[in-house]
Amino acid sequence: MLNFGFPLSTEYERISSAFGWRWIQLGEMTVPVRQFHPGQDHGCPIGTLGKVAYKGHVSKIWEGYRAGRCLEITHPTCSIPGFLVQTVYYHLNKIYFKYLQQIGSDEIAYETGNSGKWTTGPHLHWGVKVNNRFIDPRICYN
Ligand SMILES: [Zn+2]
Repeated sequence: MLNFGFPLSTEYERISSAFGWRWIQLGEMTVPVRQFHPGQDHGCPIGTLGKVAYKGHVSKIWEGYRAGRCLEITHPTCSIPGFLVQTVYYHLNKIYFKYLQQIGSDEIAYETGNSGKWTTGPHLHWGVKVNNRFIDPRICYN
């Protein structure tokens, strides 16, 4: 059991799209398509200040076509030998940390946004990876 914190202020705790399979409508296709959602979404205004779910360091910052401006944090202190734990944050507006910088769970790390093509409105998408496989973030915090 991971003992993460919720990365946003509690007013944004409502999950607008949960981890797992979901049906999406693609353009003019009449049949919905099943798509795997590798994290969970929380609607919040652009510029909402966010934290990381656990202390660690910045292991990647990138711009994705779908996910927009992205941040990946590696959490060595909650990883056990053989299990690497990481979290990711997508669609960001601004990132306050740089590659390899240490970051505490009480520090403001980014502003949420609406960047990337795969978003229908301002929200934070965050995900949790163990050995590069996404697990359900909902089981990682209280
Ligand atoms: Zn999402």
